[in-house]
Amino acid sequence: GGNLLEVRNLHKQFPIRAGLLRRTIGHVNAVNDVSFTLGTGETLGIVGESGCGKSTLGRMIMRVTDPTGGTIMFDGESLSELHGAKLRHARRKFQMVFQDPYASLNPKMRVEHILAEPLLVNGVMDREQARERAVRLLQRVGLRESDRLRFPHQFSGGQRQRIGIARALALSPKLIVADEAVSALDVSIQSQILNLMLDLKKEYGLSYIFISHNLAVVRHISDRVGVMYLGHLVELADKDSLYQNPLHPYTRALLSSAPVAKRGVQRDRIVLQGDVPNPANPPGGCPFHTRCPQAMDACRTVKPALRQLEPGHAVACHLY
Ligand code: SF4
Ligand code: MG
Repeated sequence: GGNLLEVRNLHKQFPIRAGLLRRTIGHVNAVNDVSFTLGTGETLGIVGESGCGKSTLGRMIMRVTDPTGGTIMFDGESLSELHGAKLRHARRKFQMVFQDPYASLNPKMRVEHILAEPLLVNGVMDREQARERAVRLLQRVGLRESDRLRFPHQFSGGQRQRIGIARALALSPKLIVADEAVSALDVSIQSQILNLMLDLKKEYGLSYIFISHNLAVVRHISDRVGVMYLGHLVELADKDSLYQNPLHPYTRALLSSAPVAKRGVQRDRIVLQGDVPNPANPPGGCPFHTRCPQAMDACRTVKPALRQLEPGHAVACHLY
């Protein structure tokens, strides 16, 4: 119980630069006024098309990118106010798993060293203890003890993602932010990795923020799901509520175009007109109004706020 993470009115603006002098010629609002909470032991899925701001949101929660506005409370502390030793200490509690573990695993290090390194850098244990923990972590993610002496290129993509997860676990975090963590893997390997993550969550009481463009993957792993469009959180609901009763026209369109896995539920496909608008020049009013099949006059001028419509289901749309 209790909230591990509270994100309030989070905002991220990037400058657009051009020319030799790299003058700022405009801004992109990559994340717009996003608020949500995450409970201990809970998984929040974040879905949306590429460029919707979901990775930027994850990077702000990891404190890799500083927000332009808003607050992030993590485990009772305001993240933006942590610096130096306090920030380093807090960082142990949140870790990231990336889409391409190969790019984030040092190719010259043996796996044992990759897993022991965060423990040694943070002075958590001595070399011998760290080595033992590395072996236990390897085994916990389904690899063999003898794998500890191999190098990243000697593993398959799925095995490398297991190593990436083991490394994220090394410092016993409370939160793992996974950004497209299974998107590069074959479908059969994807479900193995998702099931491993579900087991680890139960065993260690982890919380996840699981970012993906893939609705089926998010459905498999999440307790609640947030849908992003053009930097806005447009719907946030318990998983079953979202997938069985999507309220936002954008969520409905996304779900209607995804392959239906569940028995007999066939939705009419909703084909959206036009492209995602240029984020540097977003539409006024509802960010979705240029493509929404149900847009009304008010939608062009008044931005709908995310409001709770029923317990566990919030939506930002004038239809409700
Ligand atoms: Fe569509 Fe209007 Fe709802 Fe936006 S507010 S999603 S344009 S109906
Ligand atoms: Mg991304």
